[in-house]
Amino acid sequence: MGRSYKHAIVIGASLGGLCAARVLSDVCERVTVYERDELPSGPENRAAVPQGRHVHLLMARGAQEFESLFPGLLDDMVADGVPILENRPDCIYFGAAGHVLGTAHRLQDEFTAYVPSRPMLEWQIRRRVLAIENVDVVHTSVTEPVYDAARGRVTGVLLDSDEMVPADLVVDAAGRGTRLPVWLEKWGYPRPQEDTVDVGIAYASQRVKIPDGLLAEKVVVAGASHEQRVGVGALFYEDGVWNVTTFGIAKAEPPQDFAQICAVADEILPAHFSSALRQGTPLGEMAFHKYPTSRWRRYDKLDRFPDGIFPFGDAVVSFNPTFGQGMTMTAIQAGNLRKVVESGAPDVAKRLAKSTAKTTYPVWMMTVIGDLALHDATTTDETPRWYKPVGSLFDQFLGAAETDPVLAEWFLRRFSLLDSLYMVPSARLVGRTIRHNMKLWLAEKRSA
Ligand SMILES: Cc1cc2nc3c(=O)[nH]c(=O)nc-3n(C[C@H](O)[C@H](O)[C@H](O)COP(=O)(O)OP(=O)(O)OC[C@H]3O[C@@H](n4cnc5c(N)ncnc54)[C@H](O)[C@@H]3O)c2cc1C
Repeated sequence: MGRSYKHAIVIGASLGGLCAARVLSDVCERVTVYERDELPSGPENRAAVPQGRHVHLLMARGAQEFESLFPGLLDDMVADGVPILENRPDCIYFGAAGHVLGTAHRLQDEFTAYVPSRPMLEWQIRRRVLAIENVDVVHTSVTEPVYDAARGRVTGVLLDSDEMVPADLVVDAAGRGTRLPVWLEKWGYPRPQEDTVDVGIAYASQRVKIPDGLLAEKVVVAGASHEQRVGVGALFYEDGVWNVTTFGIAKAEPPQDFAQICAVADEILPAHFSSALRQGTPLGEMAFHKYPTSRWRRYDKLDRFPDGIFPFGDAVVSFNPTFGQGMTMTAIQAGNLRKVVESGAPDVAKRLAKSTAKTTYPVWMMTVIGDLALHDATTTDETPRWYKPVGSLFDQFLGAAETDPVLAEWFLRRFSLLDSLYMVPSARLVGRTIRHNMKLWLAEKRSA
Protein backbone atom coordinates (compact mmCIF):
# COMPACT_ATOMS: atom_id res chain seq x y z
CA MET A 1 0.00 0.00 0.00
CA GLY A 2 1.23 3.51 -0.84
CA ARG A 3 2.09 5.89 1.99
CA SER A 4 -0.37 8.80 1.95
CA TYR A 5 1.30 10.72 4.78
CA LYS A 6 4.91 11.48 5.57
CA HIS A 7 4.64 11.85 9.34
CA ALA A 8 1.76 11.27 11.75
CA ILE A 9 1.93 12.19 15.44
CA VAL A 10 -0.24 10.49 18.03
CA ILE A 11 -0.75 12.15 21.43
CA GLY A 12 -1.04 9.42 24.07
CA ALA A 13 0.20 5.81 24.11
CA SER A 14 -2.71 4.19 25.88
CA LEU A 15 -5.04 1.79 24.08
CA GLY A 16 -6.50 4.50 21.83
CA GLY A 17 -3.15 5.94 20.76
CA LEU A 18 -1.60 2.51 20.22
CA CYS A 19 -4.49 1.32 18.03
CA ALA A 20 -4.39 4.54 15.99
CA ALA A 21 -0.61 4.18 15.53
CA ARG A 22 -1.06 0.59 14.36
CA VAL A 23 -3.54 1.64 11.67
CA LEU A 24 -1.57 4.72 10.58
CA SER A 25 1.69 2.76 10.31
CA ASP A 26 0.26 1.24 7.11
CA VAL A 27 -0.45 4.56 5.43
CA CYS A 28 2.30 6.82 6.84
CA GLU A 29 6.01 6.82 6.23
CA ARG A 30 6.57 7.48 9.94
CA VAL A 31 4.42 7.55 13.08
CA THR A 32 5.55 9.09 16.37
CA VAL A 33 3.56 8.45 19.53
CA TYR A 34 4.20 10.87 22.40
CA GLU A 35 3.30 9.69 25.89
CA ARG A 36 3.74 11.86 28.98
CA ASP A 37 3.80 8.86 31.30
CA GLU A 38 6.82 6.65 31.77
CA LEU A 39 5.97 3.38 30.06
CA PRO A 40 6.79 0.23 32.02
CA SER A 41 8.61 -2.62 30.28
CA GLY A 42 6.04 -5.17 31.46
CA PRO A 43 2.34 -5.51 32.30
CA GLU A 44 2.24 -2.92 35.08
CA ASN A 45 -0.15 -0.19 36.11
CA ARG A 46 0.60 3.36 34.98
CA ALA A 47 0.00 6.57 36.91
CA ALA A 48 -1.67 8.30 33.94
CA VAL A 49 -4.11 5.43 33.48
CA PRO A 50 -5.49 5.16 37.03
CA GLN A 51 -8.50 3.19 35.79
CA GLY A 52 -6.12 0.29 35.07
CA ARG A 53 -6.22 -0.65 38.76
CA HIS A 54 -9.94 -1.44 38.47
CA VAL A 55 -11.52 -4.36 36.65
CA HIS A 56 -11.52 -4.02 32.89
CA LEU A 57 -13.84 -6.45 31.15
CA LEU A 58 -12.74 -7.16 27.58
CA MET A 59 -15.86 -7.84 25.54
CA ALA A 60 -15.77 -10.81 23.16
CA ARG A 61 -16.18 -8.35 20.27
CA GLY A 62 -13.24 -6.30 21.58
CA ALA A 63 -11.04 -9.40 21.62
CA GLN A 64 -11.94 -10.05 17.97
CA GLU A 65 -11.26 -6.44 16.97
CA PHE A 66 -7.90 -6.28 18.78
CA GLU A 67 -6.92 -9.61 17.21
CA SER A 68 -7.65 -8.27 13.74
CA LEU A 69 -5.41 -5.27 14.45
CA PHE A 70 -2.70 -7.36 16.11
CA PRO A 71 -2.81 -10.95 14.78
CA GLY A 72 -1.58 -13.47 17.34
CA LEU A 73 -2.43 -11.22 20.30
CA LEU A 74 -5.00 -13.57 21.86
CA ASP A 75 -2.82 -16.68 21.64
CA ASP A 76 0.10 -14.79 23.16
CA MET A 77 -2.06 -13.52 25.99
CA VAL A 78 -3.29 -17.05 26.72
CA ALA A 79 0.33 -18.25 26.64
CA ASP A 80 1.06 -15.59 29.25
CA GLY A 81 -1.64 -16.98 31.52
CA VAL A 82 -4.68 -14.92 30.52
CA PRO A 83 -7.79 -16.98 31.35
CA ILE A 84 -9.90 -18.00 28.41
CA LEU A 85 -13.65 -18.51 28.75
CA GLU A 86 -14.48 -21.16 26.20
CA ASN A 87 -17.37 -22.61 28.09
CA ARG A 88 -18.72 -19.31 29.22
CA PRO A 89 -21.78 -20.34 31.25
CA ASP A 90 -19.71 -22.49 33.56
CA CYS A 91 -17.25 -19.69 34.19
CA ILE A 92 -19.48 -16.70 34.51
CA TYR A 93 -21.97 -15.35 37.02
CA PHE A 94 -23.72 -12.36 35.52
CA GLY A 95 -26.25 -10.09 37.15
CA ALA A 96 -27.53 -6.96 35.39
CA ALA A 97 -29.68 -4.31 37.09
CA GLY A 98 -30.70 -6.71 39.84
CA HIS A 99 -31.39 -9.72 37.54
CA VAL A 100 -29.16 -12.78 37.54
CA LEU A 101 -29.09 -14.21 34.04
CA GLY A 102 -30.11 -17.82 33.55
CA THR A 103 -26.79 -18.97 32.17
CA ALA A 104 -26.65 -22.06 34.35
CA HIS A 105 -27.99 -23.91 31.29
CA ARG A 106 -25.64 -24.54 28.44
CA LEU A 107 -25.86 -21.75 25.89
CA GLN A 108 -26.61 -22.78 22.31
CA ASP A 109 -24.08 -20.58 20.65
CA GLU A 110 -21.19 -20.18 23.03
CA PHE A 111 -18.53 -17.65 22.36
CA THR A 112 -14.99 -17.27 23.48
CA ALA A 113 -13.98 -14.48 25.79
CA TYR A 114 -10.66 -13.55 27.39
CA VAL A 115 -9.86 -12.06 30.79
CA PRO A 116 -6.65 -10.03 30.56
CA SER A 117 -6.02 -7.39 33.20
CA ARG A 118 -5.89 -3.88 31.79
CA PRO A 119 -2.08 -3.58 32.25
CA MET A 120 -1.61 -6.97 30.52
CA LEU A 121 -3.74 -6.03 27.51
CA GLU A 122 -2.07 -2.63 27.15
CA TRP A 123 1.42 -4.12 27.45
CA GLN A 124 0.72 -6.87 24.90
CA ILE A 125 -0.51 -4.24 22.46
CA ARG A 126 2.28 -1.79 23.30
CA ARG A 127 5.04 -4.32 22.63
CA ARG A 128 3.49 -5.09 19.25
CA VAL A 129 3.37 -1.40 18.35
CA LEU A 130 6.96 -0.92 19.56
CA ALA A 131 7.98 -3.67 17.13
CA ILE A 132 6.50 -1.86 14.09
CA GLU A 133 9.44 -0.56 12.11
CA ASN A 134 8.08 2.89 11.24
CA VAL A 135 6.57 3.65 14.67
CA ASP A 136 8.43 5.39 17.51
CA VAL A 137 7.00 5.74 21.00
CA VAL A 138 8.61 8.65 22.85
CA HIS A 139 8.29 9.54 26.51
CA THR A 140 7.45 13.24 26.47
CA SER A 141 4.42 15.44 26.94
CA VAL A 142 2.75 17.37 24.12
CA THR A 143 1.97 20.97 25.13
CA GLU A 144 -0.38 21.61 22.22
CA PRO A 145 -0.82 21.09 18.50
CA VAL A 146 0.61 23.81 16.22
CA TYR A 147 -2.08 25.51 14.16
CA ASP A 148 -1.44 27.40 10.92
CA ALA A 149 -4.29 29.91 10.63
CA ALA A 150 -3.47 30.84 7.02
CA ARG A 151 -3.85 27.20 5.90
CA GLY A 152 -6.59 26.33 8.39
CA ARG A 153 -4.72 23.24 9.46
CA VAL A 154 -2.65 21.69 12.20
CA THR A 155 0.94 21.31 11.08
CA GLY A 156 2.60 19.55 14.02
CA VAL A 157 2.91 19.67 17.79
CA LEU A 158 4.78 21.67 20.39
CA LEU A 159 6.46 19.47 22.98
CA ASP A 160 6.97 20.49 26.61
CA SER A 161 10.69 20.81 25.78
CA ASP A 162 9.61 23.70 23.46
CA GLU A 163 10.58 21.67 20.41
CA MET A 164 8.19 21.98 17.46
CA VAL A 165 7.75 18.73 15.53
CA PRO A 166 6.11 18.96 12.10
CA ALA A 167 3.51 16.41 10.98
CA ASP A 168 0.87 16.19 8.30
CA LEU A 169 -1.53 14.38 10.66
CA VAL A 170 -1.98 14.67 14.44
CA VAL A 171 -4.15 12.25 16.42
CA ASP A 172 -5.50 13.36 19.76
CA ALA A 173 -5.68 10.16 21.81
CA ALA A 174 -5.15 11.98 25.12
CA GLY A 175 -8.18 10.38 26.78
CA ARG A 176 -11.28 11.94 28.27
CA GLY A 177 -9.26 14.85 29.70
CA THR A 178 -8.30 16.04 26.18
CA ARG A 179 -7.94 19.79 25.65
CA LEU A 180 -8.99 19.66 21.99
CA PRO A 181 -12.26 21.58 22.59
CA VAL A 182 -10.24 24.40 24.20
CA TRP A 183 -7.72 24.45 21.35
CA LEU A 184 -10.50 24.52 18.76
CA GLU A 185 -11.97 27.59 20.43
CA LYS A 186 -8.54 29.25 20.54
CA TRP A 187 -8.12 28.63 16.79
CA GLY A 188 -11.53 30.16 16.04
CA TYR A 189 -13.59 26.97 15.62
CA PRO A 190 -16.72 25.99 17.52
CA ARG A 191 -16.36 23.56 20.41
CA PRO A 192 -18.23 20.30 19.94
CA GLN A 193 -21.58 19.90 21.64
CA GLU A 194 -21.24 17.43 24.52
CA ASP A 195 -23.86 14.79 25.30
CA THR A 196 -23.49 13.94 28.96
CA VAL A 197 -25.08 11.70 31.57
CA ASP A 198 -24.36 12.25 35.25
CA VAL A 199 -23.84 8.72 36.46
CA GLY A 200 -22.07 9.59 39.75
CA ILE A 201 -20.03 6.41 39.85
CA ALA A 202 -17.37 5.74 42.47
CA TYR A 203 -15.09 2.70 42.17
CA ALA A 204 -13.25 0.89 44.97
CA SER A 205 -11.09 -2.13 44.13
CA GLN A 206 -9.06 -4.68 46.01
CA ARG A 207 -6.83 -7.42 44.64
CA VAL A 208 -7.50 -10.67 46.49
CA LYS A 209 -5.69 -14.02 46.42
CA ILE A 210 -8.37 -16.68 46.86
CA PRO A 211 -7.19 -20.22 47.67
CA ASP A 212 -7.13 -22.49 44.60
CA GLY A 213 -10.05 -24.81 43.98
CA LEU A 214 -12.75 -22.72 45.65
CA LEU A 215 -14.17 -21.09 42.51
CA ALA A 216 -14.92 -22.34 38.99
CA GLU A 217 -15.93 -18.87 37.79
CA LYS A 218 -13.54 -16.43 36.16
CA VAL A 219 -15.98 -13.56 35.80
CA VAL A 220 -18.46 -12.56 38.50
CA VAL A 221 -20.61 -9.52 37.89
CA ALA A 222 -23.57 -8.16 39.85
CA GLY A 223 -24.59 -4.82 38.38
CA ALA A 224 -26.13 -2.14 40.57
CA SER A 225 -29.83 -1.31 40.54
CA HIS A 226 -32.35 1.08 42.16
CA GLU A 227 -32.60 -1.22 45.15
CA GLN A 228 -28.92 -2.13 45.43
CA ARG A 229 -26.84 0.89 44.55
CA VAL A 230 -23.48 -0.80 44.94
CA GLY A 231 -22.46 -3.41 42.38
CA VAL A 232 -19.51 -5.79 42.10
CA GLY A 233 -17.34 -6.92 39.22
CA ALA A 234 -14.71 -9.52 40.07
CA LEU A 235 -12.34 -10.94 37.48
CA PHE A 236 -9.76 -13.71 37.80
CA TYR A 237 -6.66 -12.44 36.04
CA GLU A 238 -3.51 -13.94 34.53
CA ASP A 239 -1.50 -13.64 37.76
CA GLY A 240 -3.92 -15.93 39.60
CA VAL A 241 -5.29 -13.01 41.63
CA TRP A 242 -8.88 -11.76 41.66
CA ASN A 243 -9.46 -8.06 41.15
CA VAL A 244 -12.63 -7.30 43.07
CA THR A 245 -14.09 -3.97 42.03
CA THR A 246 -17.10 -2.51 43.77
CA PHE A 247 -18.90 0.52 42.43
CA GLY A 248 -21.56 2.84 43.75
CA ILE A 249 -24.00 4.37 41.25
CA ALA A 250 -25.79 7.73 41.55
CA LYS A 251 -23.27 8.96 44.15
CA ALA A 252 -23.64 5.91 46.41
CA GLU A 253 -20.45 5.37 48.44
CA PRO A 254 -18.62 2.14 47.60
CA PRO A 255 -16.89 0.10 50.35
CA GLN A 256 -13.87 1.71 51.98
CA ASP A 257 -12.13 -1.46 53.18
CA PHE A 258 -11.99 -5.20 52.56
CA ALA A 259 -14.48 -6.00 55.33
CA GLN A 260 -17.02 -3.73 53.65
CA ILE A 261 -16.33 -5.38 50.26
CA CYS A 262 -17.05 -8.78 51.84
CA ALA A 263 -20.28 -7.40 53.33
CA VAL A 264 -21.45 -6.25 49.85
CA ALA A 265 -20.50 -9.65 48.41
CA ASP A 266 -22.55 -11.37 51.15
CA GLU A 267 -25.55 -9.35 50.09
CA ILE A 268 -25.46 -9.62 46.30
CA LEU A 269 -23.26 -12.53 45.27
CA PRO A 270 -23.83 -16.27 45.59
CA ALA A 271 -22.86 -17.62 49.02
CA HIS A 272 -20.02 -19.78 47.65
CA PHE A 273 -18.35 -16.69 46.15
CA SER A 274 -18.60 -14.50 49.22
CA SER A 275 -17.41 -17.39 51.38
CA ALA A 276 -14.39 -17.87 49.06
CA LEU A 277 -13.73 -14.15 49.18
CA ARG A 278 -13.70 -14.20 52.98
CA GLN A 279 -11.09 -16.96 52.84
CA GLY A 280 -8.97 -14.80 50.52
CA THR A 281 -6.00 -12.59 51.35
CA PRO A 282 -6.19 -8.94 50.25
CA LEU A 283 -3.02 -7.89 48.42
CA GLY A 284 -1.78 -4.29 48.47
CA GLU A 285 -3.76 -1.11 48.97
CA MET A 286 -7.30 -0.56 47.77
CA ALA A 287 -7.69 1.69 44.71
CA PHE A 288 -10.40 4.34 44.38
CA HIS A 289 -11.67 6.21 41.32
CA LYS A 290 -14.51 8.62 40.66
CA TYR A 291 -16.34 8.75 37.34
CA PRO A 292 -19.02 11.43 37.56
CA THR A 293 -20.11 11.82 33.94
CA SER A 294 -20.28 9.84 30.70
CA ARG A 295 -19.44 12.14 27.81
CA TRP A 296 -19.79 12.03 24.02
CA ARG A 297 -18.19 14.97 22.22
CA ARG A 298 -20.19 15.40 19.03
CA TYR A 299 -17.41 16.17 16.55
CA ASP A 300 -19.69 14.58 13.95
CA LYS A 301 -22.06 17.54 14.26
CA LEU A 302 -19.47 20.28 13.65
CA ASP A 303 -19.65 22.20 10.38
CA ARG A 304 -16.11 23.53 10.63
CA PHE A 305 -13.05 21.61 11.78
CA PRO A 306 -9.35 22.17 11.03
CA ASP A 307 -7.46 19.85 8.69
CA GLY A 308 -4.57 17.77 9.93
CA ILE A 309 -5.98 16.62 13.28
CA PHE A 310 -8.66 14.29 14.63
CA PRO A 311 -9.67 13.01 18.07
CA PHE A 312 -9.65 9.30 18.89
CA GLY A 313 -10.69 6.88 21.65
CA ASP A 314 -12.00 8.28 24.93
CA ALA A 315 -11.17 11.77 23.63
CA VAL A 316 -14.34 11.35 21.54
CA VAL A 317 -16.55 9.26 23.78
CA SER A 318 -16.21 7.96 27.29
CA PHE A 319 -18.89 5.41 28.16
CA ASN A 320 -20.13 4.54 31.64
CA PRO A 321 -17.28 2.15 32.56
CA THR A 322 -19.51 -0.23 34.50
CA PHE A 323 -20.82 -1.48 31.12
CA GLY A 324 -17.26 -2.48 30.20
CA GLN A 325 -17.36 -1.18 26.62
CA GLY A 326 -14.66 1.53 26.33
CA MET A 327 -11.77 -0.59 25.09
CA THR A 328 -13.96 -2.50 22.64
CA MET A 329 -15.42 0.72 21.26
CA THR A 330 -11.89 2.10 20.88
CA ALA A 331 -10.94 -0.99 18.86
CA ILE A 332 -14.07 -0.47 16.74
CA GLN A 333 -12.99 3.16 16.16
CA ALA A 334 -9.67 1.77 14.92
CA GLY A 335 -11.58 -0.32 12.37
CA ASN A 336 -13.39 2.84 11.27
CA LEU A 337 -10.08 4.68 10.97
CA ARG A 338 -8.63 1.90 8.84
CA LYS A 339 -11.54 2.11 6.40
CA VAL A 340 -11.28 5.90 6.17
CA VAL A 341 -7.53 6.14 5.63
CA GLU A 342 -7.40 3.18 3.27
CA SER A 343 -10.10 4.74 1.10
CA GLY A 344 -7.64 7.55 0.40
CA ALA A 345 -10.49 10.07 0.62
CA PRO A 346 -9.75 13.57 1.89
CA ASP A 347 -11.51 14.90 5.04
CA VAL A 348 -10.22 12.11 7.29
CA ALA A 349 -11.48 13.90 10.42
CA LYS A 350 -14.97 14.43 9.03
CA ARG A 351 -15.35 10.92 7.66
CA LEU A 352 -14.00 9.34 10.84
CA ALA A 353 -16.28 11.48 13.02
CA LYS A 354 -19.29 10.33 10.98
CA SER A 355 -18.41 6.65 10.98
CA THR A 356 -17.55 6.74 14.68
CA ALA A 357 -20.88 8.43 15.42
CA LYS A 358 -22.59 5.59 13.57
CA THR A 359 -20.94 2.90 15.69
CA THR A 360 -21.17 4.95 18.90
CA TYR A 361 -24.87 5.79 18.68
CA PRO A 362 -26.42 2.35 19.43
CA VAL A 363 -24.04 1.64 22.29
CA TRP A 364 -24.34 5.13 23.78
CA MET A 365 -28.14 4.87 23.51
CA MET A 366 -28.13 1.50 25.29
CA THR A 367 -26.04 2.81 28.19
CA VAL A 368 -28.01 6.04 28.48
CA ILE A 369 -31.35 4.20 28.56
CA GLY A 370 -29.95 1.77 31.13
CA ASP A 371 -28.52 4.57 33.24
CA LEU A 372 -31.60 6.77 33.19
CA ALA A 373 -34.14 3.97 33.67
CA LEU A 374 -32.31 1.54 35.91
CA HIS A 375 -29.33 3.30 37.50
CA ASP A 376 -30.83 6.57 38.78
CA ALA A 377 -28.56 8.67 36.56
CA THR A 378 -29.60 12.16 35.43
CA THR A 379 -28.97 14.32 32.40
CA THR A 380 -29.65 17.89 31.41
CA ASP A 381 -29.62 16.84 27.74
CA GLU A 382 -32.86 16.45 25.88
CA THR A 383 -33.43 12.72 25.54
CA PRO A 384 -36.27 11.07 23.61
CA ARG A 385 -39.34 10.47 25.77
CA TRP A 386 -39.32 6.78 24.88
CA TYR A 387 -35.98 6.18 26.66
CA LYS A 388 -37.45 5.63 30.12
CA PRO A 389 -40.39 3.37 29.09
CA VAL A 390 -38.03 1.35 26.91
CA GLY A 391 -35.72 1.02 29.94
CA SER A 392 -38.62 -0.32 32.01
CA LEU A 393 -39.51 -2.81 29.26
CA PHE A 394 -35.91 -3.89 29.21
CA ASP A 395 -36.12 -4.49 32.93
CA GLN A 396 -38.91 -6.96 32.15
CA PHE A 397 -36.76 -8.57 29.47
CA LEU A 398 -33.94 -9.04 32.00
CA GLY A 399 -36.46 -10.43 34.48
CA ALA A 400 -37.48 -13.07 31.94
CA ALA A 401 -33.82 -13.75 31.08
CA GLU A 402 -33.33 -14.90 34.67
CA THR A 403 -35.07 -18.18 33.83
CA ASP A 404 -35.07 -18.27 30.03
CA PRO A 405 -31.61 -19.21 28.71
CA VAL A 406 -32.53 -18.17 25.15
CA LEU A 407 -33.15 -14.59 26.31
CA ALA A 408 -30.09 -14.73 28.59
CA GLU A 409 -27.93 -15.85 25.70
CA TRP A 410 -29.25 -13.15 23.40
CA PHE A 411 -28.58 -10.53 26.08
CA LEU A 412 -25.05 -11.78 26.80
CA ARG A 413 -24.12 -11.78 23.11
CA ARG A 414 -25.46 -8.28 22.53
CA PHE A 415 -23.94 -7.00 25.78
CA SER A 416 -20.63 -8.38 24.52
CA LEU A 417 -21.26 -6.31 21.37
CA LEU A 418 -21.41 -9.44 19.19
CA ASP A 419 -23.84 -9.84 16.25
CA SER A 420 -24.94 -6.18 16.29
CA LEU A 421 -24.24 -3.05 18.29
CA TYR A 422 -27.99 -2.54 18.75
CA MET A 423 -29.53 -3.96 21.95
CA VAL A 424 -32.93 -4.21 20.28
CA PRO A 425 -34.70 -7.58 20.61
CA SER A 426 -36.71 -8.85 17.63
CA ALA A 427 -40.52 -9.02 17.77
CA ARG A 428 -40.13 -12.79 18.26
CA LEU A 429 -37.99 -12.26 21.38
CA VAL A 430 -40.33 -9.58 22.72
CA GLY A 431 -43.23 -12.03 22.28
CA ARG A 432 -41.21 -14.72 24.03
CA THR A 433 -40.51 -12.34 26.92
CA ILE A 434 -44.18 -11.47 27.34
CA ARG A 435 -45.27 -15.12 27.20
CA HIS A 436 -42.55 -16.11 29.67
CA ASN A 437 -43.43 -13.38 32.15
CA MET A 438 -47.17 -14.13 31.80
CA LYS A 439 -46.53 -17.81 32.59
CA LEU A 440 -44.49 -16.85 35.66
CA TRP A 441 -47.15 -14.40 36.77
CA LEU A 442 -49.95 -16.99 36.38
CA ALA A 443 -47.93 -19.64 38.22
CA GLU A 444 -47.33 -17.19 41.07
CA LYS A 445 -51.02 -16.31 41.21
CA ARG A 446 -52.04 -19.95 41.32
CA SER A 447 -49.64 -20.76 44.14
CA ALA A 448 -50.63 -17.67 46.17
C1 LIG B 1 -12.80 3.27 36.16
C2 LIG B 1 -12.82 2.82 34.73
C3 LIG B 1 -13.09 1.49 34.43
C4 LIG B 1 -13.13 1.08 33.11
N1 LIG B 1 -13.48 -0.22 32.84
C5 LIG B 1 -13.52 -0.63 31.56
C6 LIG B 1 -13.89 -1.99 31.26
O1 LIG B 1 -14.24 -2.79 32.13
N2 LIG B 1 -13.87 -2.37 29.95
C7 LIG B 1 -13.54 -1.49 28.95
O2 LIG B 1 -13.54 -1.90 27.78
N3 LIG B 1 -13.21 -0.21 29.20
C8 LIG B 1 -13.18 0.24 30.47
N4 LIG B 1 -12.85 1.54 30.73
C9 LIG B 1 -12.52 2.45 29.59
C10 LIG B 1 -11.08 2.30 29.11
O3 LIG B 1 -10.19 2.47 30.19
C11 LIG B 1 -10.80 3.33 27.99
O4 LIG B 1 -11.82 3.26 27.04
C12 LIG B 1 -9.46 3.03 27.31
O5 LIG B 1 -8.43 3.28 28.23
C13 LIG B 1 -9.18 3.86 26.04
O6 LIG B 1 -8.80 5.09 26.40
P1 LIG B 1 -7.80 6.06 25.60
O7 LIG B 1 -6.58 5.38 25.12
O8 LIG B 1 -8.61 6.78 24.63
O9 LIG B 1 -7.44 7.07 26.81
P2 LIG B 1 -6.62 6.82 28.15
O10 LIG B 1 -6.55 5.38 28.49
O11 LIG B 1 -7.20 7.74 29.15
O12 LIG B 1 -5.16 7.29 27.79
C14 LIG B 1 -4.80 8.60 27.45
C15 LIG B 1 -3.28 8.63 27.34
O13 LIG B 1 -2.87 9.88 26.83
C16 LIG B 1 -1.73 10.31 27.56
N5 LIG B 1 -1.68 11.77 27.46
C17 LIG B 1 -2.64 12.66 27.85
N6 LIG B 1 -2.27 13.91 27.57
C18 LIG B 1 -1.03 13.82 26.99
C19 LIG B 1 -0.13 14.80 26.49
N7 LIG B 1 -0.43 16.10 26.50
N8 LIG B 1 1.06 14.37 25.98
C20 LIG B 1 1.37 13.04 25.94
N9 LIG B 1 0.54 12.09 26.42
C21 LIG B 1 -0.65 12.48 26.93
C22 LIG B 1 -2.00 9.81 28.98
O14 LIG B 1 -0.83 9.78 29.75
C23 LIG B 1 -2.59 8.43 28.69
O15 LIG B 1 -1.58 7.46 28.57
C24 LIG B 1 -12.84 2.00 32.05
C25 LIG B 1 -12.56 3.32 32.35
C26 LIG B 1 -12.58 3.74 33.66
C27 LIG B 1 -12.34 5.21 33.96
